Amino acid sequence: RAKEAGRNRCCFYRMEMSETANVRRALEDALHRALERNEFVLHYQPRVNLTTMQCTGMEALIRWNHPELGQIPPLQFIPIAEECGLIDAIGLWVLQEACSQTQRLINRLGIPLRVSVNISARQLTSVDLVKQVQQVLDETGLPGDLLELELTESMLIEDMAASAAILSALKVLGVKLAVDDFGTGYCGLAYLQRFPLDGLKLDRSFVTENAKDKQTLNVIKAFIDLAHALDLSVVAEGVETHEVQEILRNFCCDEGQGYLFAKPLPCHELEGMLASFSHITF
Ligand code: C2E
Ligand code: MG
Ligand code: MG
Ligand code: MG
Repeated sequence: RAKEAGRNRCCFYRMEMSETANVRRALEDALHRALERNEFVLHYQPRVNLTTMQCTGMEALIRWNHPELGQIPPLQFIPIAEECGLIDAIGLWVLQEACSQTQRLINRLGIPLRVSVNISARQLTSVDLVKQVQQVLDETGLPGDLLELELTESMLIEDMAASAAILSALKVLGVKLAVDDFGTGYCGLAYLQRFPLDGLKLDRSFVTENAKDKQTLNVIKAFIDLAHALDLSVVAEGVETHEVQEILRNFCCDEGQGYLFAKPLPCHELEGMLASFSHITF
């Protein structure tokens, strides 16, 4: 019942007030206090190897529990945090929390898990991301190759030379680099070749809604083949059905992520789920 009340509040908020300047200001004020009030939490969504069906790791996804408005989705508050500069502090918190929770999970479960963290455009330009990542890895003890940073095409091509330099410095730390929401942007694989990337994530809109359309299927297949030709591994987002899972597996897509396997979960629920599978397979 509490959950339902939360959802209703959220709907009301979205329908009636989301566009007004007052709400935007109120959200911004509340965002300024959210970190110190511990209102953020990370949920984790498993990633699954489509050949072995083993969990290879998970994506960290931020959640904001506003004391009055309930849970506010990241797509609603991350843009505000970016505009008012708060993303610097929030982004650092996400890195710290994701790496320390993952290192603890690895210790408790005795298996390697890679955590993916979403990086916003501002983190690439306005903070010393390389220094932050190095510090967080040092503090938490997480091996560099068990951290993956998710970047978007648009932020990479904003200033290609500067981005390439930052990405190269991140590679020295051993971290994995992936392009998020691939297929929605405009830069294409030829551009991506200029960056030291390890993988790409096929956008959900693409996978979920169009995976039955013959042409889209051909395009998905072509993306996967091209990515592999460039030595990039491919994760499909938004895998919701066995049918789509099977198509992707036949296309040699490396990994899948989506509601079919699990929704984003609080850390202790993810731990329980992984602990209850003998071989962590789905
Ligand atoms: P994203 O990085 O592309 O994350 C995937 C989104 O798809 C998540 O939404 C996830 O809950 C959702 N999803 C996963 N599987 C399925 C599925 O099978 N079906 C459907 N319908 N949805 C699925 P979420 O958690 O609301 O996050 C939305 C976006 O907010 C993320 O997109 C990311 O761009 C941003 N975001 C989330 N956490 C962070 C963060 O810590 N930092 C930054 N900068 N951005 C974040
Ligand atoms: Mg992502
Ligand atoms: Mg994204
Ligand atoms: Mg995405």
